[in-house]
Amino acid sequence: MSRPACRDTVWRPLGGSNPYVPGEQPRGEKLVKLNTNENPYPPSPAVLAAVSGTDPEQLRRYPDPQSERLREALAGDAGLSPGEVFVGNGSDEVLALAFMALLKHDGPLCFPDISYSFYPVWADLCGIAYEAVPVGEDFGIDPLGFPADNGGIVFPNPNAPTGLLLGLDAIRRILERSPDSVVVVDEAYIDFGGESATSLIREFDNLLVVQTLSKARSLAGLRVGAAMGHRDLIEGLDRVKNSFNSYPLDAIAQRAALAALEDRAYFEETAARVVRTRERMTGALQALGFTVLPSAANFVFATHGGRPAVELFAGLRERGVLVRHFDRPRIGNYLRISVGTDAEVDALLAALEAILGEA
Ligand code: PMP
Repeated sequence: MSRPACRDTVWRPLGGSNPYVPGEQPRGEKLVKLNTNENPYPPSPAVLAAVSGTDPEQLRRYPDPQSERLREALAGDAGLSPGEVFVGNGSDEVLALAFMALLKHDGPLCFPDISYSFYPVWADLCGIAYEAVPVGEDFGIDPLGFPADNGGIVFPNPNAPTGLLLGLDAIRRILERSPDSVVVVDEAYIDFGGESATSLIREFDNLLVVQTLSKARSLAGLRVGAAMGHRDLIEGLDRVKNSFNSYPLDAIAQRAALAALEDRAYFEETAARVVRTRERMTGALQALGFTVLPSAANFVFATHGGRPAVELFAGLRERGVLVRHFDRPRIGNYLRISVGTDAEVDALLAALEAILGEA
């Protein structure tokens, strides 16, 4: 069959002209992988028991389309009811659905200029006009900086890739200034040092809090994310989800995620370990001449006084240490480094010492 002459036009996908580029997932090579903010510790043993104990009958049948038990558990943890909780295939999917369902309006969708680089991609995909609001010199988000006539606001808290945290007072100010917009707080990293805005949900019907089990629960490979907010917002998400994929979470994911939520002690222990290592890593990087932003996440954002970030990135890669570098305005001289185990951080520090010791 001959191809249409104008195949670029015929096959041109909706949006997608500038897709998000995830961090490298190396195959085979033995690398110290500090580039995608995965948890360095395995998930709770209860998760593995739940996975291996899955009844084949549960695989033969379709899973619960509403993930009822999982939503009940998430609601219980946040002091909400299940009708105020939505779940999806990773928080990336939950966020994408929020863009489609809740964030397309006349005014521009606003997010910080230094922020999660998937936001402009989803905005483009959904045909949403957006405004990237500059963060301050210190990279902080100014709660008064979002224009009043916005069509929605989205930002990570702590922010990525900076790791900087906004307190609940600042979030309250953002919500009060934009009572007619949906404000999405993306809390992918909240468990490593922040206070969740879920406590504000009953006060602000325009607040949607998005969370994930990928980071503090060590389940990036399972793909489970959630959104919490007023029932009307959840209903909006449900409508779009049910127009797209009724079963975003498979039966194993639902069981395993529930097991992870139930093992609170393990989650608290491993998150505290990550925080301890982050503090040690920050001090050691400073001693090597780095300026490190104060992080409330499971990564740090750092720049070196003497050596360009691209050079350090390449030197680390050569020595088998993978970190993330964003070739973007204002942050091109920074590295984002995930907090690993103590041994991984020692390998990072040794590699940096070697690179910095070279002429
Ligand atoms: N939000 C932010 C700020 C992130 O950095 C990430 C991870 N790349 C996500 C959301 C998505 O995480 P996941 O889809 O694994 O839940």
